[in-house]
Amino acid sequence: MSTTSSLPITSEPLPTPHRIAELHASLSEIRAGVAAVCGSSSPGRSPTLVAVSKYKPAEDVRACYDAGQRDFGENYAQELVEKAALLPRDVRWHFIGTVQSNKAKALASIENLYAVQTLASSKVASALNRHRQAEHAPLRVLIQLNTSGEEAKGGIAVGAEEEIARLAAHVVRACPRLRFVGLMTIGAPDGGEGEFGALRGARDRLVRALPDDAVWGEEVEVDGQDQEGGRRGGRRLLLSMGMSHDFELALQGGADIVRVGTGIFGVRPPKKELPPA
Ligand SMILES: *Cc1c(COP(=O)(O)O)cnc(C)c1O
Repeated sequence: MSTTSSLPITSEPLPTPHRIAELHASLSEIRAGVAAVCGSSSPGRSPTLVAVSKYKPAEDVRACYDAGQRDFGENYAQELVEKAALLPRDVRWHFIGTVQSNKAKALASIENLYAVQTLASSKVASALNRHRQAEHAPLRVLIQLNTSGEEAKGGIAVGAEEEIARLAAHVVRACPRLRFVGLMTIGAPDGGEGEFGALRGARDRLVRALPDDAVWGEEVEVDGQDQEGGRRGGRRLLLSMGMSHDFELALQGGADIVRVGTGIFGVRPPKKELPPA
């Protein structure tokens, strides 16, 4: 059953004191980086830091959890299923890998799967919706856009506005077990502000196209910052962008969610040594 025997997952994740100290230090450093940008550019904003724990053992996640971290990102369904079973139920798991329809059931069945950030087709949306149980909280989804034009990166082309609007409308209208909350991009390593701006522009246009009489977005306080885009009424579509090397730039560009792996957990083993997803 397990395809991840190389991951040192035990039934009780117990990190070593040395590793705990190392993780707490790097997590504090990243948090300070997030706070520094937000404190200067828009006081009062509190973006979500997702700690990307792919290929890293459950022990590492546990150590960050003990330092108060709750949002964690994973790229592989099987790895996420195994870790979710070992870790506390109030972890908020974010799926950030390519979603295959045949993994939709395994993913949607994880009660504390908080968000799927990589939605790119209505087929996958319908599959997630079908398998999300009514007694679990609705699953948040973000539509992944390809802002770099690189074929290897997933997502809908950022310029394909009709396709983006159609998928968003499908989630909002036909997927009651899902909640459409925003857009995500991975971006090229040097994509920078150009790509962040492209995602922001797509979000601002999409907000105007969404129906008034349906549930979407995250609720925001209306007396917040009015100049901020992505909002209509008391609701706002979020932007997930920025990784270890550029999360500060992404926050300056309006990111609501940043996804940091290496900066917290250190370098990952090269892909070829890894078990299949
Ligand atoms: C791995 C990964 C990250 C984290 O990347 P780092 O450069 O290690 O911070 C963020 N987002 C996605 C979609 C990823 O696959």
